[in-house]
Amino acid sequence: MAFHAPALVYTLIMSNSSNYSCPAIVWFRQDLRLADNPALAHALAHHSSVIPVYIHGPEEEGNWTPGGATRWWLHHSLESLARDLLRKGSQLVLRSGPAMKSLKTLIAETGATAVYWNRRYEPTSIARDQIVKTELRSTGLSAESFKGSLLFEPWEVATKTGGPYQVFTPFWKSCLAKPVESAEIPSPEEIPSPAQWPTSESLLDWALLPRLKWDAGFSQDWAPGEAGAAANLARFLKQAVSTYREGRNNPGQPGTSRLSPHLHFGEIGPRQVWHAVHAAFRGQPHDDARTFLSEIGWREFAYHILFHFPQTPVSPLRADFARFPWEANPAQLRAWQRGMTGYPIVDAGMRELWTTGWMHNRVRMIVGSFLTKDLRISWTEGARWFWDTLLDADLASNTMGWQWIGGCGADAAPYFRVFNPMTQGEKFDPEGTYVRRWIPEISKLSNRTIHQPWMASSEELRRAGVQLGATYPEPIVDHAEARLEALEAFGKLKQP
Ligand code: FAD
Repeated sequence: MAFHAPALVYTLIMSNSSNYSCPAIVWFRQDLRLADNPALAHALAHHSSVIPVYIHGPEEEGNWTPGGATRWWLHHSLESLARDLLRKGSQLVLRSGPAMKSLKTLIAETGATAVYWNRRYEPTSIARDQIVKTELRSTGLSAESFKGSLLFEPWEVATKTGGPYQVFTPFWKSCLAKPVESAEIPSPEEIPSPAQWPTSESLLDWALLPRLKWDAGFSQDWAPGEAGAAANLARFLKQAVSTYREGRNNPGQPGTSRLSPHLHFGEIGPRQVWHAVHAAFRGQPHDDARTFLSEIGWREFAYHILFHFPQTPVSPLRADFARFPWEANPAQLRAWQRGMTGYPIVDAGMRELWTTGWMHNRVRMIVGSFLTKDLRISWTEGARWFWDTLLDADLASNTMGWQWIGGCGADAAPYFRVFNPMTQGEKFDPEGTYVRRWIPEISKLSNRTIHQPWMASSEELRRAGVQLGATYPEPIVDHAEARLEALEAFGKLKQP
């Protein structure tokens, strides 16, 4: 694959010296890092001083204000960014939104002549950023946005007829035919301060951390921030990338990168991941590494779909699914959310999610299939629950993931493909390691029955200390029957 230097190099050479002595505001959003940050690099090249700002404006996110888990991550990621900035002789200025109002106030307070940011692609962000850019420019200020969160922006890849892709394989093939820009924007040695710093709000006052302490498991598992992201990538490249194709399917083993929340918050950029993988394999990534890079490709695809089909967070991409007869069953939804369905691999996944804020991809598919097919509860309920509980909750990837498993999205698994929770468990968690970790009350069952406790003899149940219906639930639906009902409901969709 050929590389070419980013457009940034050109803009560095073309540095506009007239505003050089005035500070620039760098508006941090989902790019909470100092390395490979084009907006920051541009500000440093064109201005004698830089004011790093984060604006908290959940009301501007429309229906998708950050969920409880991502608020936890955001708190710690901002703390980490603030520490990193201090080491460079700078500060992080915190302000509450709306963004336009906060930026105007900051400009008036500091005499800044420019605002730079890296682009986001959610429908509400695009609309807001366009207004900000137009308004700032109309007052003679410089307002520029940059590409920092994707390898390929949604409009850079198109089908032969110029439309958006809806199938992953040709999309990724088309991406791979293009060069990936260099990620070689190092973390700056120093970030020059303005003559006077504007005041900052207090992060604690934003109350991003939960009042009830349900987040204890998060701190054990995660280190939000740029250093934590780099450490996860280094661990993955050393220990897991070489066996990724096999390892990524086993939820009981650390076979994946766990980069998703870091990528979501931009503590590491996809270009950095891409080039680190190529460097680790001296430019010749083998099959496992290429499979891993294609997962980064799925992330790109998710943004491509969200950009071109902005209605998808609430409406199925396949319009016929708007008529699907979803069930409203609050008791079953609650059992699913709490990890109390009686199907161990489903319950293990839902409990991993609740405790750690993350769930293995294989298990996301299993719990998603169970919700949308065994329970026939709408994918939108699943997406909402994930939105609130996932640390990596991301409008593009979450929407695509749920529509994929619900059968109604781009390149989706067909609705008639119903995951069997027993055989999925036996295949991908053969020793029951994952289920035993998350469901200790059935951990003494044998490998033969750990994925279907109701098949254990009463003697085995007694010895394992399991009382079905008391210490662990009986299955809330019969999988075989539920599957047939789902297929019947799906069949009705095909009728005129
Ligand atoms: P790795 O296997 O190490 O992959 C590396 C990176 O590639 C990930 O960090 C992620 O950025 C990207 N990636 C991998 N798989 C996918 C995928 N299927 N779709 C999009 N990007 C992918 N991912 C999110 O980041 N946020 C979400 O809100 C989200 N919701 C999902 C909901 C459902 C129902 C499903 C089935 C999947 C969802 N995913 C989501 C995708 C995927 O499960 C996670 O990205 C992955 O499990 C993260 O673990 P990892 O970083 O170890 O992944």
